[in-house]
Amino acid sequence: MPNAPRGLARRTLSSLSAYLRRTPGYAVLMYHRIADDIQDPWDLCVSPDNFRAQILWMKAQGLRFSTVADLVQRIEQGKDARQRVAISFDDGYADNYLSAYPILSELDIPATFFVASGYVESGREFWWDAIERLFIHPGQLPATVELSPSTEPLLLHLAGATDYSETESWIHRHWRWDDPAPTARHEAMKQAWHHLFRLSPARRDAALVELLENAGRAEGVIPSRRAMTPVELRALASDQRMEIGAHTISHPNLTVLDRAAQTEELGGSRRALEALTGREVRGLAYPNGCYDSEILDLMVEAKFRYGCRNCGSGRNAGLFELPRFIVKNAHGGALSPDVHWHAGLKIQG
Ligand SMILES: [Zn+2]
Repeated sequence: MPNAPRGLARRTLSSLSAYLRRTPGYAVLMYHRIADDIQDPWDLCVSPDNFRAQILWMKAQGLRFSTVADLVQRIEQGKDARQRVAISFDDGYADNYLSAYPILSELDIPATFFVASGYVESGREFWWDAIERLFIHPGQLPATVELSPSTEPLLLHLAGATDYSETESWIHRHWRWDDPAPTARHEAMKQAWHHLFRLSPARRDAALVELLENAGRAEGVIPSRRAMTPVELRALASDQRMEIGAHTISHPNLTVLDRAAQTEELGGSRRALEALTGREVRGLAYPNGCYDSEILDLMVEAKFRYGCRNCGSGRNAGLFELPRFIVKNAHGGALSPDVHWHAGLKIQG
């Protein structure tokens, strides 16, 4: 078990004994990025070294690996899905292809990639990364920035934080979005996220463009944060061990959209990804885990076979509400306790 802090792994495992006495099953693991970024406020990154260590640890525990689609097929056919793990990635970041895929391929591990098709086709910056770059990367900002002036104006006050240096950015590099905001900039980023999250993608993206303009910043993409290109996605999809799933077109909060827009986001992303890759798309991961009963009906109409949510706990409510477990940036055995519970993991040694 290379690089695994044995003490930590043992502690994590020993606290799980209560869980392990419960019904065993399978686990769908949820990753976003495989990267070593200095700053990761959305908590999306697992380092390549840790990713490799986690897979080796799971292999050493005797877990078996499937794509999510294969796992779903096993469940549908009544086959044994115990001790089985499906690795999944959300959003479609380029590092999925550039950093995760080489490790998966080398270790011969299948995986599922839920891709927001519009970002692959446009090459635009993911909207949550845009507000991170604006507010908590070094640089100057006005004392007040107005967000979405054409809809519900929100004034973001940055008094005392108009300058933000490399040193300050470094000091706050471990900050996470659910921590208390250490500066007005961090508070503004959180407020902007909550405001934009309630908007339709068209209004959200228009508001984002206006926000950047009001702040005197240009649109752009940090190279390490870009989405896969169509060529990279096709290369990934050409490996039959890998599954491409949908993650809508524009990564909206599906629950705020009308029925027509929901239908387009679901079916449109499936069609776009199938056209891009030449592969059948069977599943979708709900952006931010947001869905309701009407969206579940639309998933069937859009000919999806399964849907994944974000929850880290709770019972499995069916193939369109598959629970997933967010994997943290930690070595080997220090995965979420829920993983052990849900996979019915046998403790060895
Ligand atoms: Zn997402």
